[in-house]
Amino acid sequence: MANKKSVVIVGAGPAGIFTALELSKYKEIDVVIVDKGKDIDKRLKGINGVYNGWGGAGAFSDGKLTFSTETGGWLADYIDEPALIDIMNAVDKTFLEYGATEKVYGTQEDSIAKIAREAAKADFRLIPSKVRHLGSDQCPIILQNIRRDLERKVDILMETEIEKVEVENRVVKGVRTIDGRTIPADFVVLAPGRSGANWLRKEAERLGLNSSVNPVDLGVRVEVPAEVLEPLTSVLYEPKLVYYSKSFDDKVRTFCVNPHGYVVEEKINDLVTVNGHSYLEKGSENTNFAILVSTQFTQPFKDPIAYGMYIAKLANLLVNGVMIQRLGDLEIGRRSTHERISRSITKPTLKTAQPGDLSFVLPGRYLTDIKEMLKALDRIAPGIYSNHTLIYGIEVKFYSSRPKLTRNLETEVNNLFTIGDGAGITRGLVQSSASGLIVSREILRRIERANLPQSFHKQRP
Ligand SMILES: Cc1cc2nc3c(=O)[nH]c(=O)nc-3n(C[C@H](O)[C@H](O)[C@H](O)COP(=O)(O)OP(=O)(O)OC[C@H]3O[C@@H](n4cnc5c(N)ncnc54)[C@H](O)[C@@H]3O)c2cc1C
Repeated sequence: MANKKSVVIVGAGPAGIFTALELSKYKEIDVVIVDKGKDIDKRLKGINGVYNGWGGAGAFSDGKLTFSTETGGWLADYIDEPALIDIMNAVDKTFLEYGATEKVYGTQEDSIAKIAREAAKADFRLIPSKVRHLGSDQCPIILQNIRRDLERKVDILMETEIEKVEVENRVVKGVRTIDGRTIPADFVVLAPGRSGANWLRKEAERLGLNSSVNPVDLGVRVEVPAEVLEPLTSVLYEPKLVYYSKSFDDKVRTFCVNPHGYVVEEKINDLVTVNGHSYLEKGSENTNFAILVSTQFTQPFKDPIAYGMYIAKLANLLVNGVMIQRLGDLEIGRRSTHERISRSITKPTLKTAQPGDLSFVLPGRYLTDIKEMLKALDRIAPGIYSNHTLIYGIEVKFYSSRPKLTRNLETEVNNLFTIGDGAGITRGLVQSSASGLIVSREILRRIERANLPQSFHKQRP
């Protein structure tokens, strides 16, 4: 067919998958989705790149779908709020179609209003949002269901790494793989996630694209008995609370709350950081969550990733991995030891963490902000500021630098789009998936304008 258009999507994480899902509804478009990592079947068998492969970093994530325009990304900088809400609802519908649980948190308005009032009294802003919890066990199954459906409609190239984007006269022409193959395309969507952010940054530099710097989010993971947070987690599942520290006016927030969850190690190249997740089918006696301090550095600094890695490396240097400390020990300025941790009422769910002293790792400003936040949290969830509360470090969120993008998430090169966490515009499953829908709809709009046959239009829903 003369008018047939082709789209190459780099990255089979949620952003790339949702781009493919939407475009695959139209048989007049050739869609190729390429990922350097392993396919989902291999990943399910434990042949697992943690961040790479079908499903991306989302595949073995906690699978908390948080429907908020304020958290999980910055898409609200590009698209009006009502339109973004519509797109997020479409994302939710798709997850449901492929097997997500029906259960939703964050819809009991009276209870939420009460929590918001208590939070305000303690100087917090509560960001209420609907949450659907897939669980680390369900998430890969849903992605497998999507894979089976998509493989009939689009070309899927796994274990194929893209080296270069081909551009001529500021118009994209395709991509080149590291083994020298060219895949020509009318449209290219780059969705390389956090693991591909460095690659994207280098490609953006090579192509002369302008970029801006995102904040650094650095902090710790906190673990308490689940009962302590139950009044909040039973209503909201994930209470998202924002606080501005009195000492520095820094933005400090809760992040990734895992009721009855597990603290886990996260490996980023040779770096070990901390994270948390929870399952749908099994649970621990604890709840864990991150407290992150957000800092937007200004000129001439432009490498937030290097800064975050540097701090996380300090923890690794001291204890050869993730450090754990009781809050009581941190308070009186002494390190924790195995013996002191064993006396803690809260039993650590991450057994490999090594006791130490986080004040040798975190800059004083971060430590002050984190302690202030924990004290304020104790006012709405008494028991958090306990000697027995466990603090793990370092948790760090790297947000990639953001190429300059239009409202349709197109770069300064025509028909070259970039989306998801790798583009620094999202940081969660829902918004990364939503960014895929925004771009696919824009590509469809452009293809329709290019006089495709009538059959194309008939198939639009
Ligand atoms: C442990 C963990 C838990 C999480 N829990 C949650 C949660 O509960 N809720 C939530 O909303 N979010 C969670 N997240 C975040 C969520 O997983 C990400 O926001 C989301 O996966 C981002 O999607 P993406 O498509 O932009 O990128 P990714 O999912 O990172 O996918 C990018 C893909 O691109 C591929 N790629 C990169 N470069 C290239 C290249 N050059 N050539 C070919 N392929 C390439 C990679 O192999 C990868 O598969 C979690 C993340 C982690 C790590």
